[in-house]
Amino acid sequence: MIIKGKKYRYGIHVKDRKELCREKPIETMPAPEIVKISVSQHIGAPAIPVVNAGDAVVKGQLIAEASGAVSANVYSGVCGTVTGIEEIVNPMGLKQKYIVIKNDFRTDEVFLPNMESFDDKSIIERVRQAGIVGLGGAGFPTAVKLTPKNRLDTLVVNGAECEPYLNCDYRLMLEHPDEIVKGINYLAAALNVKNVVVGIEKNKPEAVRAFSERGMKVVELQKQYPMGSEKQLIYCCTGRKVPVGKMPFDVGVCVQNIKTLYAAYEAVERNKPLTEIVMTVSGDGIAEAKNLKVTIGTPFADIAAFCGGEKEGVVKYVAGGPMMGKNLVDLNQYARKTDSGLLFLTQKEACLDEPTNCINCGKCAKNCPMRLMPMYIELFTLAGDYQKAAKYGAANCIECGSCAYNCPAKRPLVQSIAFCKAKLKEKK
Ligand code: SF4
Ligand code: SF4
Repeated sequence: MIIKGKKYRYGIHVKDRKELCREKPIETMPAPEIVKISVSQHIGAPAIPVVNAGDAVVKGQLIAEASGAVSANVYSGVCGTVTGIEEIVNPMGLKQKYIVIKNDFRTDEVFLPNMESFDDKSIIERVRQAGIVGLGGAGFPTAVKLTPKNRLDTLVVNGAECEPYLNCDYRLMLEHPDEIVKGINYLAAALNVKNVVVGIEKNKPEAVRAFSERGMKVVELQKQYPMGSEKQLIYCCTGRKVPVGKMPFDVGVCVQNIKTLYAAYEAVERNKPLTEIVMTVSGDGIAEAKNLKVTIGTPFADIAAFCGGEKEGVVKYVAGGPMMGKNLVDLNQYARKTDSGLLFLTQKEACLDEPTNCINCGKCAKNCPMRLMPMYIELFTLAGDYQKAAKYGAANCIECGSCAYNCPAKRPLVQSIAFCKAKLKEKK
């Protein structure tokens, strides 16, 4: 069944550039010689390494264990030897521990034990064991999301993929719809919900068809950024409004991303822990844009080489999409669970203009999907008055970048708001 999604007035229309690799099937990149695997690829406490330098490991082996209720296990995606544990600055600018493994290219692999029962508790436990987190970018441990405080009645599947350039969810939906439907059924069973809706933007008609043909209720969404953010998606798929300061579970909904559902299928049915991710490598600055399945911990420089190398004129590297991704100083980074993209942007694609003074045009507020006034939040942040910025709703910002995208003065609004949020958190 296909139904039309509710219209949403706010947000923006961006050039999506998805044509660069929209038609390219997912290719598996061979695991590299060295992987560096972060113990903190999720929201919550870092996992604690359970291997030491000199230890031999195999693919699928637990190398860092979740520490506490909100955390996630980490597994090796290669066979080889642990050469050490390094501290590396991640794309968010935080120093974190990475387990370094030298690949010996053996093909051995270990799996999670067979599941004895497929009831809700067993599925949640399997998702926890496998180290699955929100793979759309949020990184919140999925098992925690499957055990909300209140009773839910709806699972919303996020197939919007509204970030420009990215095609990894789209390709997974086209190439593995049966596996994703199984993942949906497992997580719906874990949540004890009967109502499932799959939200897909209307620029992906093949994906809409693939899921409706498999008996799913598909909501065809208008093409608009940030359609994939939870609150907008829930409204457009169900008509329910998540109040400011509240979470999806407060309105009886759980949202799961396509890649997370695929990972859940692999964990439940194939006993596979999370060791690989699907990401889009794109931009005018890379020789060949591709959709790749890569081993977690693969160096970004190796990924670039696998795509034919960087072309001349790259002015910006981005981990993730251009709207919500993180700018990288260089390619000394390593694939993490939450990476959906690696972009190589040229001058034509990236905005490097120097900011000028705000002209109070109000465009940023007009586009904000959270109905905030970004210009005032920035103003008070720059003045160091974080409490006043908080009064204008800084904490509710989802850092979607819609405000900055259309700002004629090129104000770095998202950076200011993110800084303010960090300051407010620090104070708390
Ligand atoms: S869009 Fe830019 S120039 Fe216009 S009010 Fe907002 S910050 Fe100021
Ligand atoms: S203020 Fe935050 S939520 Fe609003 S448009 Fe800007 S980044 Fe998005």
